[in-house]
Amino acid sequence: MPEHFPWMADELEALGEQGLLRKRRTVRRRAGGWCEADGRILVDFASNDYLGLSHDPRLIEAAQRAAVECGTGSGSSALVVGRSIWHERLEHRLAHFEGQEAAVLFPTGYAANVGAITALVGDDDAIFSDSLNHASLIDGCRLSGASVSIYNHHALVSLEARLAAARGARRRLIVTDGVFSMDGVQAPLRELCALARRNGAQVLVDEAHATGVFGRHGRGTAELLEVEESVAIRVGTLSKAIGSVGGFVCGSRTLIDWLWNRARPQIFSTAAPPSACAAACTALDIIESEPGLRANLFVLSQQLRDGIQELGLETIAGGSGPIVPVIMNDAQVAVRVAEGLEQQGFLVGVMRHPSVPRESARLRITVSAAHGPQMIEELLSVLKNVAAAEQAV
Ligand SMILES: *Cc1c(COP(=O)(O)O)cnc(C)c1O
Repeated sequence: MPEHFPWMADELEALGEQGLLRKRRTVRRRAGGWCEADGRILVDFASNDYLGLSHDPRLIEAAQRAAVECGTGSGSSALVVGRSIWHERLEHRLAHFEGQEAAVLFPTGYAANVGAITALVGDDDAIFSDSLNHASLIDGCRLSGASVSIYNHHALVSLEARLAAARGARRRLIVTDGVFSMDGVQAPLRELCALARRNGAQVLVDEAHATGVFGRHGRGTAELLEVEESVAIRVGTLSKAIGSVGGFVCGSRTLIDWLWNRARPQIFSTAAPPSACAAACTALDIIESEPGLRANLFVLSQQLRDGIQELGLETIAGGSGPIVPVIMNDAQVAVRVAEGLEQQGFLVGVMRHPSVPRESARLRITVSAAHGPQMIEELLSVLKNVAAAEQAV
């Protein structure tokens, strides 16, 4: 083929030299905390399938039945003819699960964030966005046209000053991850809600890593931190602990009616397949009826955190739950440690720029309720040797 983009080859080579080139893998099978990737069986400490539900036979059966009943694709966006009986059921189910008046589905969690933010604020408005927020929140902020002020959640005094300074804006919105995806720490939601209340702002929380995991009923960090009444907009994904695919927003009936009419990714993108919605409905039943899954996940996660500290490796203080980062600083070292782990049969995430700042490349180890204590012990023992060999300790 003719080379239309000679600059790309150069840039890709430069990324490779910095340890920033991403490689793809092909997964043949996933089940029970394992996967077969590129022909090798690996213990999967990289996915966000926190409760191991994505391969649960009950979800698979629900998806199969819905596919037979409604077909494999939704055929159009929800507003045309894409909203099947399973979409409707799931929206009701989610509203009930979350204890909110209503919910609306989006094709993905990414689309839910972009759709919600761009429908809520525009040119005359101001957004306050945590510096660690997920890319989908960042992109929503950028697309909205509102002025964006990026704050550090360790500096809430400065956030309050910024909120006060933006008093001239028509609307003010604080957006934050509930659990930061690269750090595994929670946002200071109580403080943020109090600041919002004092300054006439609203709070949007992205519960992508918290739905089904945090809080007494698994509703996320808003439940855990007892601010469910104060958080105006709750965004979630069905692709992580729920084990399916799709995104959602829940809140007041008025908010949901507004998003039906104004959230562009929901209006102009085909709805997720009915089978994904049916699987998600079953997942919510399981999350409600089996709180032991969540409890087990936290026990395993703590075992891993304690073990990493005992090895003298650096993690992030204040974290809890299944996202366990191991800071390596240098991207090349992080890549080599991850490769070493993979050679010994353990798959972990490697997070580098631009997912995290250049100087804080890390392993991102994610625990699943499908793992067992023995798997965690084995991972720790291999990590100890590999990190020592790379002098990462
Ligand atoms: C994964 C993730 C999303 C996007 O959800 P998808 O359903 O995968 O599109 C949004 N926000 C955060 C914090 C995430 O980690």
